[in-house]
Amino acid sequence: MDDVDVVIIGAGSAGLAAAKTIRAAGLSFKLLEAMGRVGGRAWTSDQHFGVPFDIGCAWLHAADRNPYFPEAEAAGWTLHHHDMNVDHLYYRKRKASEAEEAEMKAADARLFELLAAHQVEEGDDDRLSALLAKGHAPRAAATFAGPMDFGADEDEISIRDFQAAADLDPNYFSKEGFGALVAHFGADLPVELSTPVRKILWDVPGVACVTDRGTIRARAVIVTASPAVLAFEEIEFSPALPDTHFGAFFDLPMGMLTKLPVEIRGTRLGLQPFDDLLIERLARHDIYFLCFPFDLDLMVGFVGGDFAWEMSAAGEAAGIDFVVDRLCNIFGADTRKHVARAMMTNWGGERFVRGAYAAARPGRSEARAALMQPVAEKIFFAGEHLAGPLIQTCGGARLSGESVARQVAALLAIG
Ligand SMILES: Cc1cc2nc3c(=O)[nH]c(=O)nc-3n(C[C@H](O)[C@H](O)[C@H](O)COP(=O)(O)OP(=O)(O)OC[C@H]3O[C@@H](n4cnc5c(N)ncnc54)[C@H](O)[C@@H]3O)c2cc1C
Repeated sequence: MDDVDVVIIGAGSAGLAAAKTIRAAGLSFKLLEAMGRVGGRAWTSDQHFGVPFDIGCAWLHAADRNPYFPEAEAAGWTLHHHDMNVDHLYYRKRKASEAEEAEMKAADARLFELLAAHQVEEGDDDRLSALLAKGHAPRAAATFAGPMDFGADEDEISIRDFQAAADLDPNYFSKEGFGALVAHFGADLPVELSTPVRKILWDVPGVACVTDRGTIRARAVIVTASPAVLAFEEIEFSPALPDTHFGAFFDLPMGMLTKLPVEIRGTRLGLQPFDDLLIERLARHDIYFLCFPFDLDLMVGFVGGDFAWEMSAAGEAAGIDFVVDRLCNIFGADTRKHVARAMMTNWGGERFVRGAYAAARPGRSEARAALMQPVAEKIFFAGEHLAGPLIQTCGGARLSGESVARQVAALLAIG
């Protein structure tokens, strides 16, 4: 393979954006992607339901700062503004009373007040659960903030990390799919698909990236693989990375969000398109449904955190049965007659992703800043896990890719 100025590892949102920025700076590059498609965690597929369905990211978060949003508008995408607001709350099989719904919303608001006021001192318990205990908020207040949004349970979330993340309103959905939008964004880029980078040598002039199809030398490399992929040492660094960086991969473990969409034909179950339905259960087995988005025949179930990992281990058939049983519990046994196709996403099983998105370990939120420092001015990291206040989001990943690529271009211009 030809030598280039910059190798970019990964053609997800961050890698595509980095490649576009490097190209705009007039530098040569190679964009290497392990999977047989672009987009990474941005992936729209019509294979399951005959209509575009986002297996990965779906909400265009922080639309007022999200570079994909104006592009979706310009492309004539069908957009729907949808900020989270629990319309239907159940405690197991029982519909919550109005008072209980109000209590839950108040507890949710209280959690954010507590977060805004909280100063983490050295030696403090940095787990979100500690804050909940202090504010005596019911655990349900953290269902969205924790497993459904952060992909992690409240005792695995760092308060500092959580505080640094932005409020993601306003949020939009697109009918055509966020994954399709990202693929459209990267469509004019040359990508070497099915080309995992196995090793990066950096005790040579520049770097040498070893793949099964040959080795590419470059002046710098931008690595956008998730921290879990890096912690599993899918890419070997030679010599080994400094502890600051290698340790940071482990301090940014992946949270999990699993989607369980079920096609429901011939009834809307008394629900409106885009209603939010939450079933609070016991021991973190909560499940959220986005109801009939765009009036499609789809109830999209979501489970997050440890329960989502458990569900992945139980397998798709068990996951689908769980969701259908929960719907039957609430809407009656007849609901089963309306169930058609269904599926379960499996991001934990994607070798080159290994989870949904990173959440810093309590007490370890500084790992993000550590990874933002280049190694020897030639190994740079980018991706959703390094996206500042827009961490965990696809728009944030793109901004991270662009920003790091600008940094690389500036450095190579001097060197
Ligand atoms: C279920 C789910 C729901 C989500 N919902 C939302 C949402 O609604 N809104 C939102 O904004 N975000 C959401 N996200 C998060 C969003 O999808 C990610 O933050 C974003 O897509 C990450 O982009 P990235 O470029 O950082 O990483 P990735 O998309 O993971 O891209 C990295 C790429 O690197 C490749 N790679 C890894 N190792 C190698 C290697 N050795 N060699 C070559 N290539 C390699 C991978 O195959 C991958 O394509 C969701 C994610 C999941 C999983």
